[in-house]
Amino acid sequence: MTRQERIERHDALYKLLTALPGADFGAVPECAETDPEVFFPEPGRVDLARRAIAICERCPVREACLEKALQNGELGIWGGTTETQRRKIRAQRRRAAQQGREAA
Ligand code: SF4
Repeated sequence: MTRQERIERHDALYKLLTALPGADFGAVPECAETDPEVFFPEPGRVDLARRAIAICERCPVREACLEKALQNGELGIWGGTTETQRRKIRAQRRRAAQQGREAA
Protein backbone atom coordinates (compact mmCIF):
# COMPACT_ATOMS: atom_id res chain seq x y z
CA MET A 1 0.00 0.00 0.00
CA THR A 2 1.44 3.36 -1.00
CA ARG A 3 1.71 6.34 1.34
CA GLN A 4 -1.07 8.12 -0.57
CA GLU A 5 -3.32 5.07 -0.28
CA ARG A 6 -2.69 4.97 3.48
CA ILE A 7 -3.60 8.62 3.77
CA GLU A 8 -6.79 8.13 1.76
CA ARG A 9 -7.64 5.10 3.87
CA HIS A 10 -7.14 7.09 7.05
CA ASP A 11 -9.42 9.84 5.76
CA ALA A 12 -12.09 7.28 4.80
CA LEU A 13 -11.90 5.58 8.19
CA TYR A 14 -12.04 8.92 9.93
CA LYS A 15 -15.28 9.76 8.12
CA LEU A 16 -16.70 6.38 9.16
CA LEU A 17 -15.67 6.85 12.78
CA THR A 18 -17.00 10.38 12.99
CA ALA A 19 -20.42 9.08 11.95
CA LEU A 20 -20.61 6.91 15.09
CA PRO A 21 -23.24 7.89 17.68
CA GLY A 22 -21.75 10.31 20.18
CA ALA A 23 -19.00 11.47 17.84
CA ASP A 24 -20.08 15.09 17.86
CA PHE A 25 -17.08 17.28 17.07
CA GLY A 26 -18.99 20.52 16.74
CA ALA A 27 -16.25 21.73 14.38
CA VAL A 28 -14.02 20.49 11.56
CA PRO A 29 -12.31 17.32 12.83
CA GLU A 30 -8.76 18.09 13.89
CA CYS A 31 -7.30 14.89 12.43
CA ALA A 32 -8.66 15.62 8.95
CA GLU A 33 -7.18 19.11 9.09
CA THR A 34 -3.68 17.97 10.05
CA ASP A 35 -0.77 17.38 7.69
CA PRO A 36 -0.79 13.60 6.95
CA GLU A 37 2.98 13.54 7.60
CA VAL A 38 2.11 13.89 11.27
CA PHE A 39 0.09 10.66 11.32
CA PHE A 40 2.57 8.73 9.15
CA PRO A 41 5.85 10.01 10.59
CA GLU A 42 9.16 8.96 9.11
CA PRO A 43 11.24 6.69 11.40
CA GLY A 44 12.81 8.69 14.20
CA ARG A 45 10.33 11.61 13.98
CA VAL A 46 9.21 11.21 17.56
CA ASP A 47 8.15 14.86 17.60
CA LEU A 48 5.57 14.22 14.87
CA ALA A 49 4.33 11.02 16.50
CA ARG A 50 3.83 12.87 19.80
CA ARG A 51 1.91 15.58 17.98
CA ALA A 52 -0.39 13.02 16.37
CA ILE A 53 -0.95 11.23 19.67
CA ALA A 54 -1.86 14.52 21.35
CA ILE A 55 -4.50 15.08 18.66
CA CYS A 56 -5.83 11.54 19.11
CA GLU A 57 -6.15 12.09 22.84
CA ARG A 58 -8.71 14.81 22.16
CA CYS A 59 -10.58 12.69 19.58
CA PRO A 60 -14.06 11.45 20.57
CA VAL A 61 -13.71 8.26 18.50
CA ARG A 62 -10.25 7.31 19.74
CA GLU A 63 -11.20 3.91 21.17
CA ALA A 64 -13.15 2.86 18.07
CA CYS A 65 -10.26 4.03 15.90
CA LEU A 66 -7.78 2.04 17.96
CA GLU A 67 -9.87 -1.12 17.64
CA LYS A 68 -10.08 -0.69 13.85
CA ALA A 69 -6.31 -0.19 13.65
CA LEU A 70 -5.72 -3.29 15.78
CA GLN A 71 -8.02 -5.36 13.56
CA ASN A 72 -6.57 -4.06 10.30
CA GLY A 73 -2.87 -3.97 11.20
CA GLU A 74 -2.62 -0.33 10.14
CA LEU A 75 0.61 1.62 9.75
CA GLY A 76 1.14 5.02 11.36
CA ILE A 77 -0.54 6.64 14.35
CA TRP A 78 -4.09 5.50 15.06
CA GLY A 79 -6.23 5.82 18.13
CA GLY A 80 -3.39 7.49 19.99
CA THR A 81 -0.95 4.64 19.50
CA THR A 82 2.12 3.84 17.44
CA GLU A 83 2.58 0.60 15.48
CA THR A 84 4.88 -0.69 18.23
CA GLN A 85 2.31 0.00 20.92
CA ARG A 86 -0.38 -1.78 18.90
CA ARG A 87 1.87 -4.80 18.42
CA LYS A 88 2.23 -4.95 22.23
CA ILE A 89 -1.54 -4.65 22.73
CA ARG A 90 -2.16 -7.49 20.25
CA ALA A 91 0.46 -9.65 22.01
CA GLN A 92 -1.11 -8.94 25.43
CA ARG A 93 -4.54 -9.86 24.11
CA ARG A 94 -3.22 -13.08 22.59
CA ARG A 95 -1.59 -14.02 25.92
CA ALA A 96 -4.79 -13.20 27.85
CA ALA A 97 -6.87 -15.29 25.44
CA GLN A 98 -4.38 -18.18 25.72
CA GLN A 99 -4.47 -18.01 29.54
CA GLY A 100 -8.28 -17.94 29.42
CA ARG A 101 -8.32 -21.10 27.28
CA GLU A 102 -5.85 -22.84 29.60
CA ALA A 103 -7.90 -21.92 32.68
CA ALA A 104 -11.13 -23.26 31.13
S1 SF4 B 1 -8.11 8.69 17.10
FE1 SF4 B 1 -6.50 9.80 16.02
S2 SF4 B 1 -6.15 8.67 14.12
FE2 SF4 B 1 -8.14 8.01 14.94
S3 SF4 B 1 -9.67 9.28 13.94
FE3 SF4 B 1 -9.13 10.26 15.90
S4 SF4 B 1 -7.49 11.71 15.44
FE4 SF4 B 1 -7.65 10.28 13.66
